[in-house]
Amino acid sequence: MPNAMKHLILVGSGKGGVGKSTVAIHLALALAQQGHRVGLLDADIYGPSLPTLLGPAGKPKSPDGKRILPVEKFGIKLMSMGYLVDPEAAMMWRGPMLAGAVSQFVSDVEWGDLDFLIFDLPPGTGDVQLSLAQKFKVRGAVLVTTPQTVALADVVRAKAMFDKVRIPTLGLIENMSYFICDQCDARHEIFDHGGGERAAVRLGVPFLGRVPIEPKLREGGDVGQPLFNLAPQSASAATFLKIAADLTERVESEHAQSQRQEVRKRSLKIIRS
Ligand code: ADP
Repeated sequence: MPNAMKHLILVGSGKGGVGKSTVAIHLALALAQQGHRVGLLDADIYGPSLPTLLGPAGKPKSPDGKRILPVEKFGIKLMSMGYLVDPEAAMMWRGPMLAGAVSQFVSDVEWGDLDFLIFDLPPGTGDVQLSLAQKFKVRGAVLVTTPQTVALADVVRAKAMFDKVRIPTLGLIENMSYFICDQCDARHEIFDHGGGERAAVRLGVPFLGRVPIEPKLREGGDVGQPLFNLAPQSASAATFLKIAADLTERVESEHAQSQRQEVRKRSLKIIRS
């Protein structure tokens, strides 16, 4: 059965280590909690992180030798190169081959009907974005950054990459934004304050929210457990749910608008012919 996927959303960052995979995972899980059918595709072929951050999930099966069934865990469908090959195996693929592999993951994996397919993009490259934009209707991209100036410079480059291939940027998330001390309840702005919001204004994109530094997020990532299992009442869990709800509203309204435009275009064509 061909896949029917409503919203393809890319999660990207200018550089590694800012928590892009963590955000992609928790956005996907939050959307699933809100009743959506969600797939999560680890587009980092060289350095797949899903099998570590969400734990092992068995090898994907291929009943007909052609299409691959995604693995399912925590209520979402997952695919990662790390589930197919030994994560330790060095991948000697170049950019264009990587991009081809990601596109294959979209079309050859039996995702079925999805409301959202979330892509955890590899940091830095432009090949994957280009290939996806050429082959599929990508709804938009979410940028992840930390508040320091050095990360913000990278996020400007990441946005330029999406612009180049005409993928709209849906917004920016500031991760590791602040830390609430569990001893004194004070809020510490460890990596500076307000950088993400300033970058969003500068780039002309919506600011989607701040995810605090949350030791349970790091702990969960190390043992393959999402925050919604370890600390469902935490500020970070609430933030992910809020961002997911806002994002849904935004993409749904843009989708409705583009559908109306499509209908108008089609009726004009009929009138003129
Ligand atoms: P990236 O995909 O940008 O390389 P990861 O998502 O792999 O980054 O995150 C890097 C590390 O930081 C992981 O150990 C992850 O658990 C941790 N981490 C990410 N976001 C947070 C956060 N808000 N609070 C605490 N640890 C975090």
